[in-house]
Amino acid sequence: MSNTNKNNKFNNLKPQKFDWNLIQIEMKNKLGLEVYESWLRKISFIDEFNNYILLSVPTRFIRDWITSRYLDQILQTVKSYKKEIIRIEFKIIEQEIKNIDAQTTSKVRDTGKNVSFIKDSYLQYNRIDPNRRFDNFITSSSNKLAYEASLKVSENISHYNPLYIYGGVGLGKTHLLNSIGFELKKENKVMFISAERFMYQFVKSIKTNDMVKFKEYFRNTDVLLIDDIQFMNGKEAMQEEFFHTFNALLDKGSQIIVTADRAPNKLSRIQERIKSRFSGGLVVDIQKPDTELRKKIIKKKIEELNVLYSGQVKISEEIQEFISREIVNSVRELVGALNRVVSFSRIYNKNPNLSETKIILKDLLNLFENKVTIDLIQTIVCKFFKISKNEMLSSRRSRYLVRPRQTAIYLTKILTSKSLPEIGREFSNRDHTTIIHSVRTIEKLKEKDPDMVDNINKLKNQILYNNKHNEI
Ligand code: ADP
Ligand code: MG
Repeated sequence: MSNTNKNNKFNNLKPQKFDWNLIQIEMKNKLGLEVYESWLRKISFIDEFNNYILLSVPTRFIRDWITSRYLDQILQTVKSYKKEIIRIEFKIIEQEIKNIDAQTTSKVRDTGKNVSFIKDSYLQYNRIDPNRRFDNFITSSSNKLAYEASLKVSENISHYNPLYIYGGVGLGKTHLLNSIGFELKKENKVMFISAERFMYQFVKSIKTNDMVKFKEYFRNTDVLLIDDIQFMNGKEAMQEEFFHTFNALLDKGSQIIVTADRAPNKLSRIQERIKSRFSGGLVVDIQKPDTELRKKIIKKKIEELNVLYSGQVKISEEIQEFISREIVNSVRELVGALNRVVSFSRIYNKNPNLSETKIILKDLLNLFENKVTIDLIQTIVCKFFKISKNEMLSSRRSRYLVRPRQTAIYLTKILTSKSLPEIGREFSNRDHTTIIHSVRTIEKLKEKDPDMVDNINKLKNQILYNNKHNEI
């Protein structure tokens, strides 16, 4: 038992119950912080049954909201951990509301940014992050247009109105919105809110009979920044209110800037007239980072980290090149990848080499993941220990077969994302407890036996370098 705890990496080896926290983290990544904080954080895990799980939420309203908007994604995430699960049931447990409020309050207090957040729930969401500014937004042809339009708006209100910025996840939309807010709030009343929060406030205001305050609050601003407008779908009454707010603001010359993950005409379940107002201003997109941007961002982030860690961050050109070549989908992922490599080098006090980098980033490297197959691992391990594959997969327990078998199982666990039962199946239908046992045995041996460490490293390299895509 203590062994499991010592080895964080293998805490997930317990297949019986899945870890709801893990699913929460994944949903936070998938759906964004706003959606998570507004809704998903309020879900608690109660129990797991044969083919469904039971969750609890504090109110009927939250249940309906989650069911109508996020259930598919939640189920998908749950299924990726346990594919037997085919449905999710909710139970309403009202007393949890208190806990959640307490959590929220203490969280806000922890950030210590502004005590008045607690008093004024609107302000709670009007947070402009002073670390995301124009001067640390790096540009290249993939985001230049959006950057320039944003800059223009922040110099001259109503130049483009509304300004609509769209693009995929992690490409810098919220960063730009922040930058605009940061500049404009010096001389204007700025309201910065995600569409998700806007809806949340709206519904809350109806419930507490505060609609007048709600309207006043939003219509009083000089600049309205709304993030992730794609979430404002469905709920007619809310769209109605948004439309009126929107028009009232444009009429009085306030600036509106909206971001979304898609073009206005692609927004689903949003009224045509709202879409058409969005299209009436300036619409710009941000594209996936091109090579130039990826390289620049890596360089800049290393500079920033070096300021933080007094020049101790040294990532070789080869590794920088590798990260910027492989992590192409979003700036967030790119920065995340770099941070991981830097944490590794700080924890182990050593600069990772290429194959270590590949392991650190394995879940981000799609091609890599697909090419490291169990078959490849088995073949290489068999060759290394000079045994046949039949022998490896047999049920014989001679010592000269057991170690190689355990080694192959261990390598499969760390180099692929296969689940324990899946690995078991590929090793002649062994039980998942055998798989856990093998992994732990090798882990323990590695602690005592330098030869074992050496063999594992050699094998890892062979497996990774065998991977055609990553040949150097
Ligand atoms: P989005 O809102 O499009 O999902 P974000 O604005 O949240 O993306 O960006 C994700 C992360 O990447 C943030 O930490 C942001 O500061 C950073 N980032 C994105 N684009 C750039 C850029 N061009 N220069 C510097 N940092 C960037
Ligand atoms: Mg965003």
